[in-house]
Amino acid sequence: MLPYICNMSEKASTFIARSTEKAIDLEHRRKINFNIGKYNAVVPAGKSQFHDVELARQRAKNLKWKSLETLDLQLEAFEANITRRGAKVIWAETAAQALQEIKQICEEKSCKTIVKSKSMVTEEIKLNDFLHKYGIESVETDLGEYIQQLDDEPPYHIVTPAMHKSKEDVARLFAEKLNTSPDLTPEQLTLVAREKLREKYAQAEIGITGANFLIADIGAIAVTENEGNARLSCAFPKTHIVVVGIEKMIPSFTDLALFWPLLATYGTGQRITSYNSIVLGPKQPGEPDGPEEMYVILLDNGRTNILSNPKTRESLYCIRCGACLNACPVYKNIGGHVYATTYSGPIGAVITPHLKEMNEWKHLSYASSLCGNCTEVCAVKINLHELLLENRKESVEEGDASFAEKIAWKLWKKAMLNRKLMNMGNQKIKNWVVNSLVKGWSAHRADLQFPAKSFNEEWKATRKR
Ligand code: SF4
Repeated sequence: MLPYICNMSEKASTFIARSTEKAIDLEHRRKINFNIGKYNAVVPAGKSQFHDVELARQRAKNLKWKSLETLDLQLEAFEANITRRGAKVIWAETAAQALQEIKQICEEKSCKTIVKSKSMVTEEIKLNDFLHKYGIESVETDLGEYIQQLDDEPPYHIVTPAMHKSKEDVARLFAEKLNTSPDLTPEQLTLVAREKLREKYAQAEIGITGANFLIADIGAIAVTENEGNARLSCAFPKTHIVVVGIEKMIPSFTDLALFWPLLATYGTGQRITSYNSIVLGPKQPGEPDGPEEMYVILLDNGRTNILSNPKTRESLYCIRCGACLNACPVYKNIGGHVYATTYSGPIGAVITPHLKEMNEWKHLSYASSLCGNCTEVCAVKINLHELLLENRKESVEEGDASFAEKIAWKLWKKAMLNRKLMNMGNQKIKNWVVNSLVKGWSAHRADLQFPAKSFNEEWKATRKR
């Protein structure tokens, strides 16, 4: 309702227009409900591995708290430890800096082909578009991402990039782009993708991955995946580049014993993800496999803005499990693309206004029923719905509210604090004032109806009797 009386940015009006359209797309809803239904069916099995899942979530939150409160020290320890084994650490304050560093490495290696595993942070910096401009082919090797790349679409979900596509949609897409038969089964489609990707692995000079965790005490990155493509992207090409947000830090190698099963449970309902790799650096003397060089790009790109804010800091605890997206009634209706951001759903609505511009993106913090389901399901107990309210408050404090909104709230406050004013208008007048002023409400809902008598009037009458 509120965006209608706020100072609406172009992004906000586009969001409202696109979400209005998507919310009535029943085919889209059917596919999403089907896929989220499958997720909901398996999560309890994953949870059953924990003796006390609530305690596990709280411990994970405490560990992320520890990491973020001492992030400077943890990052330095990470850098010192991984550098000792020959990796090169690059600090990038912005997306542009990260891209320039990658370009320079590509030039040094005369790179023409890159194999890339699924990584939201490389989506955030728009890496593929950037490389394309310089004639470098960057091939997505995760099946879901590969499908999205074929379709020239960004990922729809942070864990399941092609969640909005049915198997028939994928078969049609492969037929159109790769000349395969439109009747292929999911297994056959997977084999087609595998065959195409193997060629790319053989050609690629560089492999790029993200990281699920940075591990301070041993100086390593941890990558979690179900297909083995990230492991190949790390190890097959001669150069491995890791692009990772600085908030992915965990203090110790032993913390993985908690984070790996937690991420698997809340991400895909598994007890443990199929492939979990810990990369400690490039190939060491005497080792037969692995890249000759490894670069780790530690990306800020707005994260220290969040870190400097004691209230919103906890949004950096996110381990990108995607559970809050699957639980969100808004996400389930409008889907991932309508957000027009890298990170969609509740966590996207919380962090995007801080990673980008509050004024441009605050509308996402209003796209919530505040039901609190996101907070209920969050693997690391982030108070997501409260952070959405915090964003709304901060946007007003930053002066992003329009003149009309400020006046509306002043009038509302005056009326609410004055009983005489509240009782002045009769039911008809109140109905008219509310339904004609709050236009966004009745555009999609029945008019608000005031009762014939206010509670105060009823109360007085009861006491008289
Ligand atoms: S906010 Fe919580 S539930 Fe949402 S993706 Fe992050 S860790 Fe998962």
